[in-house]
Amino acid sequence: MLDRVVLATNNAKKLVELQRALAEAGLEVEVLGLKDFEAYPEPLETERTFEGNAVIKAEAACAHTGVAALADDSGLEVDELNAMPGVRSARWAGPECDDAANNRLLLAQLDGVAPERRGARFVCALALVLPDGSRELWRGEMPGRIADGERGEGGFGYDPLFLPDDEERTSAELSAAEKDAISHRGKAVRGFVSWLKGER
Ligand code: IMP
Repeated sequence: MLDRVVLATNNAKKLVELQRALAEAGLEVEVLGLKDFEAYPEPLETERTFEGNAVIKAEAACAHTGVAALADDSGLEVDELNAMPGVRSARWAGPECDDAANNRLLLAQLDGVAPERRGARFVCALALVLPDGSRELWRGEMPGRIADGERGEGGFGYDPLFLPDDEERTSAELSAAEKDAISHRGKAVRGFVSWLKGER
C-alpha cells in the first residue's frame, strides 16, 4: 500500500493540487515535495515524449529519496505546427524566454490560419516510480483551439490563448476549479487517484 509519495516538483501549487485531489477522494497519502529532501541535480529532460520525460523525473526523485515518486510533464500540441511546441512548450521562444514571449511567437506562427485549422490540445503525462523499480503512467488531454488573441488573467503559460472545446472562454478565464475539472493535469491526477483506490 502506498502511504507516502514524493511529487518531483518545487511548485507549491502542484503539491497543494495533488494533496486536495487525494483528500477529496478520501485517501490518506502523505504528499511530500522535493523541498522535504536534500537537493539533488535535476535530470535533463532528454526524451521526445511527455511520458519519457515524466519517467526521467520520477526515476531521479525515487532514486534520490528512496520514496515512491510521481512526476508530471506537460505541454501544448498545435495541429498546424505538427504537434509542436510539445515537450518544448516551456522554452518555445528560446532558452531564457517567458510565457509572454512564447505566446507572442505562437500567435505569430498561426497568423492568418483559419479558425477551423487552429486545433490544439494540452497534454499531461504523470509517472509513478516505486522503489522496487515498477512504474505506472497516466495521460490526460484537454482538446481545444488557439484563439487569435490573448484573453484572461488566470492560469499560466498558454492559457490566455487556449479555448477548450465547448467553451467560449479561454482557459485563463476559467476558475481554478473549472479548469481542474476538464484539464489535462486534472485528468491525469484523477487517473492516479483511481489507480490508488484500486490498490487499497
Ligand atoms: P511543465 O510540465 O509544468 O514543465 O509545463 C511545461 C509547459 O507547458 C509550461 O511551461 C507551459 O508553457 C505549458 N503548459 C503546460 N500545462 C499548461 C496549462 O495548463 N496551461 C498553460 N500552459 C501549460
